[in-house]
Amino acid sequence: MSTQPLMPHEEPDHEAPHVPAVEIDAAAFAEALPVKEPVAANRPMGPTGRPMPVIPEPAPRESHGNARIIAMCNQKGGVGKTTTTINLGASLAELGRKVLLVDFDPQGSLTVGLGVNPYDITTSVYNLVMDRGVTLDDAVVKTGVPGLDLVPSNIDLSAAEVQLVSEVAREQVLARALAPAIEEYDFVIIDCQPSLGLLTVNALTAAHGVIVPMEAEFFALRGVAMLVETIQKVQDRLNPELEIDGLVATMFDARTVHSREVVARLVEAFEDKVFHTAINRTVRFPETTVAGEPITTFASTSGGAYSYRQLAKEVLWRCPGT
Ligand code: ADP
Ligand code: MG
Repeated sequence: MSTQPLMPHEEPDHEAPHVPAVEIDAAAFAEALPVKEPVAANRPMGPTGRPMPVIPEPAPRESHGNARIIAMCNQKGGVGKTTTTINLGASLAELGRKVLLVDFDPQGSLTVGLGVNPYDITTSVYNLVMDRGVTLDDAVVKTGVPGLDLVPSNIDLSAAEVQLVSEVAREQVLARALAPAIEEYDFVIIDCQPSLGLLTVNALTAAHGVIVPMEAEFFALRGVAMLVETIQKVQDRLNPELEIDGLVATMFDARTVHSREVVARLVEAFEDKVFHTAINRTVRFPETTVAGEPITTFASTSGGAYSYRQLAKEVLWRCPGT
């Protein structure tokens, strides 16, 4: 474990942005954006072009249970679903929440990112959803972070998509498998695969809320309509209670107009559903994957760790009772 004495927003960031960087006058840019929610005067401008509200310190939990199930969902790959699942989960655990992360991607990136070898798993999420005799307890493994548990996955899960087609109530198998977790945990976060297929529909059917990570980059906005349509279909047909908990901008580069413009478009379209917290682009995240641990323990004082802790507080603030 290595920690760097870096303060938030002071970390080096050598990655080239997707479009040529242009220096902007942040204040003038912020002025051009409509402010749609009343926030106390004199608040500094946040990364999403809105005044940053004061996000309250979450109250401690007296007991555990009544979990909120969140699907981390975006059919695009490489947008930060897995990174957000690990680090939001670890940050919620730091805040005293009991958290279960569910790897629901056959690629097993969440599993690897938490230091578990996908080839060493005896009981994976595939067994949990496909084998009647397997219970949640059989599939749960502890991680190195206190309060953070994992249901691991590996390539076996890719068979489930095909096998489920002929099942009765094929959209509800994950919801059924995760039902016992609700009593035990405060949060269950499902890391979805990059598609809107049956596995993702299962995650949306099991969930109370969806979080959509979006890369702050031009092409990110493509496909959002399709994602929203899928969420609406699931709401109409399978899970009327499903809510969009929020969209979170990832790989954000505050120094480029481009990043800010993409986020401004998001705020125009989704207004308050866009989290005030944005996650900066930094090479520390790929490093944590290799280390097999969250950034909150790998580089505890880095800007990335700070951002995910803030996102966790914003989630607790936005979801009453959590
Ligand atoms: P997804 O699960 O949506 O496919 P990942 O979370 O696996 O996306 O992220 C894709 C790649 O981008 C990974 O190598 C990850 O380490 C890296 N990454 C994620 N978030 C950031 C970030 N904020 N800055 C830089 N790299 C990031
Ligand atoms: Mg992933």
